[in-house]
Formats: sequence, structure tokens, C-alpha cells
Amino acid sequence: MTAPDPRLDEAAVRLGVVVEAPQHSGLWGVLDYLSAVPLPPGTLVRVPLGRRVVTGVVWTLPSASGEAPAMAVEDLKAVIEVLEGLPALPPAWRQLVGFAAAYYQRSLGEMALMVLPPELRQVDAVQLQRRLKRLDKALASPEEHRAGATLPELSAQQAQALSALGAGGARPFLLWGSTGSGKTEVYLREAQRALDAGQQVLMMVPEINLTPQLEARVAERFAGRRIVSLHSGLTPAQRLRNWVMALQGHADLVLGTRLSVFTPLPRLGLIVVDEEHDPSYKQQDGARYSARDLAVYRAHLEKVPVILGSATPSLESWHNALPGAEGGTGRYLRLDMPERIGGGDMPRVRLLDQNHVLKATMGQEPPPVSRPLLDAIAQRVERGEQSLVLLNRRGYAPVLHCSDCGWKSGCPHCSAWRVFHKADRTLRCHHCGFSERVPRACPDCGNQDIQPVGRGTERLEEQLAAALPGARVGRIDADVTKHKGALEAQLASVHAGEVDVLVGTQMVAKGHDFRRITLVAAVNPDAALFASDFRAAERQFALLLQAAGRAGRDADVAGHSEMWVQTWHASHPLYQALQRYDFAAFATRQLQERQMAGLPPYASLAMLRAEGKTQEAAQGFLEAAATAVQDLVAQAPEAAGLMLYPAVPTPVQRVANVERAQLMIECGQRAVLQRFLSAAQSVWLAQAQQHRRSGLIRWAVDVDPLAI
Ligand code: ADP
Ligand code: ZN
Ligand code: ZN
Repeated sequence: MTAPDPRLDEAAVRLGVVVEAPQHSGLWGVLDYLSAVPLPPGTLVRVPLGRRVVTGVVWTLPSASGEAPAMAVEDLKAVIEVLEGLPALPPAWRQLVGFAAAYYQRSLGEMALMVLPPELRQVDAVQLQRRLKRLDKALASPEEHRAGATLPELSAQQAQALSALGAGGARPFLLWGSTGSGKTEVYLREAQRALDAGQQVLMMVPEINLTPQLEARVAERFAGRRIVSLHSGLTPAQRLRNWVMALQGHADLVLGTRLSVFTPLPRLGLIVVDEEHDPSYKQQDGARYSARDLAVYRAHLEKVPVILGSATPSLESWHNALPGAEGGTGRYLRLDMPERIGGGDMPRVRLLDQNHVLKATMGQEPPPVSRPLLDAIAQRVERGEQSLVLLNRRGYAPVLHCSDCGWKSGCPHCSAWRVFHKADRTLRCHHCGFSERVPRACPDCGNQDIQPVGRGTERLEEQLAAALPGARVGRIDADVTKHKGALEAQLASVHAGEVDVLVGTQMVAKGHDFRRITLVAAVNPDAALFASDFRAAERQFALLLQAAGRAGRDADVAGHSEMWVQTWHASHPLYQALQRYDFAAFATRQLQERQMAGLPPYASLAMLRAEGKTQEAAQGFLEAAATAVQDLVAQAPEAAGLMLYPAVPTPVQRVANVERAQLMIECGQRAVLQRFLSAAQSVWLAQAQQHRRSGLIRWAVDVDPLAI
């Protein structure tokens, strides 16, 4: 059936509809369409866009639509169909999306459509009906209401945290608790409270890998409640289904990764952000939003409590949870849970000074794992306990080298080395993926003896197996867990005690509830101490402390658990603070440094990034962009200290034959920076148009960038 042309209909109304329009298109994303009947904001529709038909969201009321000079009714296109059967997206959802688009400098259309389930952008009304019918059928069989699980008796500190949470108040909560202090139990109790009040709960975790574990715990606790997960590992159909259940109010609890922060929840009553410091909460391409920060904003918007939980909070959150008298903003309320459940101590931290080892080995380069550490691991193997050895670099060796002519295994497409992977004898670039079989001889001089330099997890696994005859050595990193189910299988074998020594990257440091690990070792953690990124130390501290938390999780082995740090800089303040598990001291020191340097959280940053065919093209655009906004910079209040730094190549400046550069923008006042960026956008759009001819490929603004 073809609908009558609404242009011919007197009663036709004009609607503002948001469609997918990237920032660079110059369209903000709200376009005017005609509809035969008024449609409430938040309604999903299919509309013509150029020669395509796309999904859009009705955004503004007819009367409020359009800032641009109104198009004549005759020129407007009509809404093709309404995606019926779904409730309109709630006002709070539209507000959140609107805020995120403005704050992260993206078009409203891009933001709104990006956060919908991908499948929803593709289906037409008929297809959606079919899917909804299937879902209705599934929902018709009610979940059986079983008796709830028996609850553990709360520890004193849990009870205290919960009573503070119960007292409410409008401030976000920062739950600062050691690993194993029972933070999850606190989330679950709060969730219970919200569910009992007929509300929905949004629980966020940083990584997909960690969802199954928490999901199992949540499912066990809330038997009979509808729990859905939302992350990028689901099939498009599952994701649509779970999202629809949330929007319809059928799902009681949504457990998800960063993308779940945008889930429409009509009865939202609580937001939890577990491991709130984790970098995974920041989207690293496209609309580079921080789900942690948006969660705080959303809680404020919808007037619901939000709990940010961590053993090592981000310095931003820590600063927000320090009272004014201690130099903080006092915006958050901090709840402390320093003790582990069962009273088990955190493992004893041993700093293994490589300088001493060097002396002991008569000046010979120490082996990858020094003797005392090897002995300690061997002892564990003998006792039937497990060890975890951390090395944040996968592959066999980061580079191959010819000692005759100096050839190194560079990537022809990137300014980076290709990593030697021994298992499949390839040289692989971790930036662009370019992979080749390892040459038999040096490609430049024919020398047959080319050597691996340095060490990745694959080599460490081999070396440990050689040094510990009889021990079962296993490995978990992105290479061994490429295939679906591989990670679960590998973890299961660790849990089953089939592995004595587990080598792994940061992947294994997070969250996993290993019961028999009594030794954790970081064998090469020093690089972070001298990295150019000002957040490197913060990340490293969090990682090491989290890794330490993998040991001694059972109180009966906690007593003799150890965390070994093999370092050349044992007296470094980071390690000294780690040894005392003194996050507060570490944070205080870091904050002092940040304040002196005028870095976050004492200043706001944005990064203007550009990619070009040449480095000159990328930097050329950035420099022109900076020059073009000199007036805007001058207009900013002097006290705000708005400043543009020179354009520089990114740390890895060429990836897949594309040159990358960046320009940092710093400002003492967030609001001033925001105003500046909004005004600069249109200037930069015009600049970018001109620079396309000279080789500019892409550009973007990254607000509150994580990696510098
Ligand atoms: P965190 O999230 O802070 O790392 P968890 O909530 O995972 O800590 O708690 C660590 C362990 O202690 C888990 O095995 C959990 O089941 C258990 N636990 C938590 N709270 C209690 C309690 N009040 N009584 C007994 N066991 C508890
Ligand atoms: Zn050579
Ligand atoms: Zn490459």
C-alpha cells in the first residue's frame, strides 16, 4: 500500500528527524520531513535520504523544528513508515544523546544512530514486526520465580557502605575498595533494593571477558528476574532483542560494556560502573565518548544513584571524591572498603632489584626471570600452587635483527617493528596487521643468522618451561584467545589446576577469580615509569595492583601470597607506594604533579587529530586549523588559560601508510573549552575541505583524550 502524499494533505505536519550524518558531512543531523500525522519525539521512522531509505528518530516537536531557514513544504520529503511496536525513546535518552553529541563534538545524527543496535538501523517496519512477535512469544512464558539465594552476612565495612548508599543524597558515590573487599556484593545489594522498588538497574563492566563471570553471579542472585547483557560480542539479533527488552521495560537488569550506557531504560533506578578507572570505558574511535563520565551525567539527569567502583580509582574520580579541604572538588562521596573479605592480606610485594641481580651475575645481563623469582615459582609448583607471570607484550619477540648488516623487521606500512610470532613463524605488524612468513635469511644481506631481540609472552612461556622442568606452563593473551571459546577453555584449565605457571598480558590481570594463585610476578614493568603519556603511571599502578589482587584470593593461601616486581628502579615512588598498597599516597603525589603541570583533572584537554597521505598534509591541516581559530582563542577569558600546542606526529606516526599527527588543546575551564570547540567546529570543517586537496584524509576532535 502506498501512503498518500502528505504534501497534498492539509493536515500534514513538519517533523525534525535525526538521521545518520557524520560530522564531516556538515549536516548536524536533524532534517525536516513531513508526516501525515504528528509523531511523538523518540519515535523511530524510516525516511528517504538521498537515494537511500534510512532509519531516523523523530527529535523535535513540529513547531520547534529547524534552525535553518525553513524549507518550503513542497520541497520536503515525507516519512516513509513508522517502526511500530516500540515505545518512543524516552526524553531522558534523547537528552543523554544530545549532551553526548555536543560534549564530544559529534553530529547529533551520528551519535543518535550509533548508539542504537546496528540491526535496528537496517530493518524495515515489517521485519521489525516479525522480530517483535518472536520476542513476545519468548516473553509470554514467565520466568519462574525461585527463592532467592542465601545472602552472605555483610562485613562491617559493607554494611557501612550500604547504609551511606541508603541515605542517598544527590552525589555520585565512589566505592573505593581493595580487590576482594566485596564491592560486587555491595552492587548486588543496591541492585536488589532498586529491583524491589520496581526499578531497572544498569550495571557496567569494562570488558566483554568479564561479563560472563558477573552475569553468573547476578543470575544466581536474582533468579526469576530478567537479566540481559549488552556488548559487542552478541549477535546483531541478540543485541536488538536485549535492547528492545530494556526499552520495553521487560528487562530488570542490564549488564553491559561501555555501549550499554545509552540503553533506554524507562524505569532506571541505579547505575553501577565497576572498575571505573578502566580505559575501556573510553571509546577510541568515531564518537570518542567516556561511558564512565556519561554514566555520571545520566544519573544526574535521571536523578538516580550511581556507584563508581574501583580499587584504584581514576585520578579524575579520586579528585572529585576528595573534600574541598583536601584540595578536591567534593562532588562525589567516597565510601572506603580497605579490607578483604575474610581478613586475608593482600600479597606481600617484593621488589626484585635487577641491579643487585646484575652484581650477582658478575655483570652478565640477568636472565628474563631472575634466579630468586624462578626459585619462588619452583617452590609454588612443588606445593601444587599456581603462579601468574605478567608481561604486557605478546608475540615471541618484538623485533628480529641481523647483526651483520643491522636489518630489523620493520613494517613497510607503519613506523613500527613487526613482531616475531614463533608459533606460526610469521612477522606480524600489530598496528596494521600486515603479516609475512619469517624470512630464512636476512632480506638485505643474506645472513642466515637473524636473531629475535627482546621478549614477548610466547618467548617467556618457552623460557619458563625450559627453566622449570616438569612444570605445566600455559599462556593467555590475545593470540591464544583469538578463537571464540578459547579464552573460556584456557581459563577453565587454570581453574581446574591443569596449569602451574600462567604467562599472560594485562588480559589476565583483570577481574578473574583465581583461587589457587599464590604468586604474581611482573617481569618487565619499568617502561611505564618513563612513558611520555602522563597517564602511564596511573595505568601501571592500577594494573599492578589489580594483578596483585589475583593472588591469595582464598584466605587460607593469602598468608603466604606474594607479588614480585622485577625492576631496575626499585626506589621509584610508584613501586614504593605499591609495596605499601598505598593508593592514596600514590594519588596524592600524582595529583601534585598534575597540578604543577596543569594537566587533568586540573585542566581539560582536547586533542585535534589528523590523518594524511603525508606527515606534512596532516600537520599542515592542524597548523592551519590552529591559525584559523586565533580570534576564538583570543576571545576566551584570559583566566581560563585556553592554549593550543604545536602540531606533532603521534607516537606511532605512520600506520597502514597513513601519517598521523595531533595538536593538544588545553584549558583551565571545561565550559570555556566546550564553547571554544563548538565555535571552532565550523571553522575546522571549512579548513578540512580545503586541505583535502593537499592530502588530508581524516580529522577528528577527541575530548578528554585518554592516550596522549
Ligand atoms: P570485589 O568485587 O571487591 O573484588 P567480591 O565482591 O568479588 O570483591 O568479593 C570477593 C569474594 O568474597 C567473593 O568470592 C564473594 O563471594 C565473597 N564475599 C563478598 N562479600 C561477602 C560477605 N559479606 N561474606 C562472605 N563472603 C563474601
Ligand atoms: Zn643482514
Ligand atoms: Zn604495519
